[in-house]
Amino acid sequence: MMLGSDVSSLTTTAKTAAGQGLSIVVPVYNEAAGLAALHERLINLAKTLRARYGLACEVIYVDDGSADNTLMIARGLPADGLDLQVVSLSRNFGKEAALMAGLDHARRGAVLFMDGDGQHPPTLVEQLVAHWIDDGYDVVYTAKAHRDNESAARRLAVRGFYALINWGARQQIPEDAGDFRLLSPRAAAALRQLPERNRFFKGLASWIGFRQIRVDYEPAPRAHGVTTFNAGRLIGLSIEGLTSFSVAPLRFASLLGALLAGAAFLFGLSILWEVLTTGKQVPGYPSLMIGMMTIGGVQLIMIGIVGEYIGKILSELKARPIYFVAEHTEKHADGGAAQN
Ligand code: UDP
Ligand code: MG
Repeated sequence: MMLGSDVSSLTTTAKTAAGQGLSIVVPVYNEAAGLAALHERLINLAKTLRARYGLACEVIYVDDGSADNTLMIARGLPADGLDLQVVSLSRNFGKEAALMAGLDHARRGAVLFMDGDGQHPPTLVEQLVAHWIDDGYDVVYTAKAHRDNESAARRLAVRGFYALINWGARQQIPEDAGDFRLLSPRAAAALRQLPERNRFFKGLASWIGFRQIRVDYEPAPRAHGVTTFNAGRLIGLSIEGLTSFSVAPLRFASLLGALLAGAAFLFGLSILWEVLTTGKQVPGYPSLMIGMMTIGGVQLIMIGIVGEYIGKILSELKARPIYFVAEHTEKHADGGAAQN
């Protein structure tokens, strides 16, 4: 009885929230070739959502300093049954910054993040919206159903990354979760309130809490071009995520230091014991060298880890804006246009 009324009130809240509509944020970096096709699919999606839920949609393309004519194409897209904003950043700031820019410009209640390369199927969005409006979830995130097409080394690296970042964390970051996710109005508002400059969206979106649900899907192949996230960039993003999200590496450093020191102490004791009992001095040059090199190497790594955190503190301290907007155009479903 009690449970029933709780659930129905939740659903009512979500239904009311649906009245504010949905902003679809699409970061685009050199996506000229597939943008028109994607927009076509989004127009259809907006029609379906309006028909089914009375949901008004807005699409925000954030041009992340593309070198091709992505911006020109985006500006020429029609606002057919949806509101359209094109936000062009002053240079390439990276996907996380582009997502932030989209979140800041979103005018509707709920926010959906979606890649501009066709890998995030618009058809899945209906299901995400259903979890929000019908079931009352606040964060509907998607995860790759499997990683069969990725190399063993990459899968191992991913495993290690999540094991480390979630080590001892109160709020676990779900493994394999992507940036394709829907945020209810209150979840989007929470995400906007976070003050940090170093953004790691997957982590932040799980950290804010609320009712979260996972949806597995099979990412489509890229509609055109190649991914910009090569191994180097992924490692960069992982270090970024780790250091802005957890102190696990620092804890790991202390633990390793303690282990090494403990081992050295025991080793010392055993040498002392040997000298006292047998009376013979061990030559010991190789073990000395190995010990020195191990400890020297480990120390350098640990200083590097500490350095990463100091760098993070520095960039938070400088408090620079996350991005700059060079141009912003908008069109409305009813035909109005504005530029500033
Ligand atoms: N992207 C961006 N800025 C960048 C790199 C990528 O806005 O500096 C966008 C890109 O246009 C795409 C999304 O982020 O919409 C995902 O990029 P990509 O497909 O290269 O990455 P992957 O799908 O391999 O993770
Ligand atoms: Mg992609």
